[in-house]
Formats: sequence, C-alpha cells, structure tokens
Amino acid sequence: MRNIRYPIIYHPSYDIPLPENHRFPGTKYSALIKELETTGIIENYLKYVPKPATAKYLSIAHDPFYIQAIETGNLSKQEQTRLGLPWSKTLVQRSFLAPNGTLLAAQLALQTGIACHAAGGTHHAHWDFGAGFCVFNDLAYAARALIAMKLAKRILILDCDVHQGDGTASILSNDRDIFTCSIHCAENYPPKKAKSKLDFPILRGSGDEEYLSVLAQCLIEMDRINFAPDLVLYDAAVDVHNNDKLGLLKMTSVGIYQRDKVVLSHFKNQQVPIATTIGGGYGETHEEVAQRHSIIFAAVQSVFQN
Ligand SMILES: [Zn+2]
Repeated sequence: MRNIRYPIIYHPSYDIPLPENHRFPGTKYSALIKELETTGIIENYLKYVPKPATAKYLSIAHDPFYIQAIETGNLSKQEQTRLGLPWSKTLVQRSFLAPNGTLLAAQLALQTGIACHAAGGTHHAHWDFGAGFCVFNDLAYAARALIAMKLAKRILILDCDVHQGDGTASILSNDRDIFTCSIHCAENYPPKKAKSKLDFPILRGSGDEEYLSVLAQCLIEMDRINFAPDLVLYDAAVDVHNNDKLGLLKMTSVGIYQRDKVVLSHFKNQQVPIATTIGGGYGETHEEVAQRHSIIFAAVQSVFQN
C-alpha cells in the first residue's frame, strides 16, 4: 500500500512567551508537534515551514496603521487588554508567520486535497484591531490572498471554534466570493456577535449529540445554498471540549473526532480541497490542549487514507 503523507505546516517560532498563569496556552504549538511525534501521527505528514507575511500583503485583510502598531509595539493599554496578549518581539514574529502558514496550507490543499496548519484560526482579529488572543486574522487573509492570486474563485470558511468568528465575519462581510459560516456557543465570547453569512448558535451545555445534529443541519444548509467553494478553510478548534477552560459546551474527544471526520468526509466526497487550522483550545496543561488539537490530524489520516 502506498504511504500517502499529508502536508503539515509549522514553524518553530509559533510559541508565544507568556507569564506562567496566563489563560492562553502559549506553548501549545510545540506541544502539539511533540504529541504528534509521540503518538506517531506525524509519520503520515510532511512538514512545511512558512515564511513571514509582509506588512504590505497583510494589508489585504488589515488596516496598515494597525499592522504598523503591532510591528512597533505602539498599542494603547486598552488595545493591549482587548488583544489579551502582552506585546513582545516574539509575538510580532509569530504573528507575521502564522497567517502565511494558513495561506501555505490552503495552497498545498489546492494541490493535494488536504493540508493541515499546526496553528491558525485567529478569528477574533478585526480589520483594525486585535482581540481575544488574535493579532491578525489568518482566515480572512488567506481567503482574500488566494482570490487575489487567482488560485480560487470561491472560498468557504467553516469555523467550528466555540467562540463566534466575529473578526472574520466582519472583515469579509462584503466579500461575496468568501462565505463565512460559524458554529459556536451562543452564550460565549464575543458578547456582541458579528453577522456571518451563516451562524449556528448552540446552547450552553450542549454535548456531542446536539452539536453533531447542528453540524449536520449546517452541512445540509450549505448544500442547499450551493455556494460550490473551490476550497474550504476549516477551523477545527477544540474549545468545544467539556474540559475546556473557556468553552461552555460539553463535547468529548470522541465527539470532536466525529465532528472533524464528518466535515472532512463531507467535502472530500464533494472533491473540495480542505485546509485545516487548529483554532482555540484551553486547558489545565498545555499537553492536555495539545492532545485535543492532535484530533484533527488523526481525523485527516482516517478520512484521507482510503
Ligand atoms: Zn475559541
């Protein structure tokens, strides 16, 4: 049997240096790679390393003044609080790398059918400000860049993070060729939701069964709309997990695996390439979060090996 290896996009500078008790698991990126190595899942993947995005190109999705403020560390106290991450040179470096990681995943997915970014899904970043641990919006950036490069005509962003993809929805609100779809917990952050092209709010405390039934409805609705994307950017976040510190849903790891397999199979069957991002995930330890983020990589292996 031929051993197919799927692209994994990762940069050793992805980790974010943060104080010990910070809510964001800053080292979850390297912990994820370690987890994939320990479990052997990495054997099914070929590593690719992104180059940093230029400020000029990032302006396809962000206000140049905001990009400059990030570059130079010129953020007000209020802006820093809204972002939720302390400014550092390391943060700047990884913030310019990660959007290109998602773009590279998308470009590779167009060639191979599937590619996985071991970061990305920073969907709370808006046109001119960062929020909720998100500096730049990799999903909006990658989608617009692919269309600008004429690599795709229509892109679907399917966001399964427990929090609504408000930044993505608002940046892309007038982009008719990029379809934003968010399945999220109704009662969770952000308090003021944006309007995605399709939103599926889920009630607090919902578990696997309710979630998977909403996902099925969502995919039926997408088929009915017949948007016919050339590519799907899938945010396979794991903060929907019962033990997540910021999520308010009660999904199990088995349920998340199921969710990922449903999404991947759906678009694979329609021969639509998929690029995945890891999105949010918060837990007691970075290892525990990394373990949950490895689920999408196992799901890809399971769905695409046949
Ligand atoms: Zn989230």
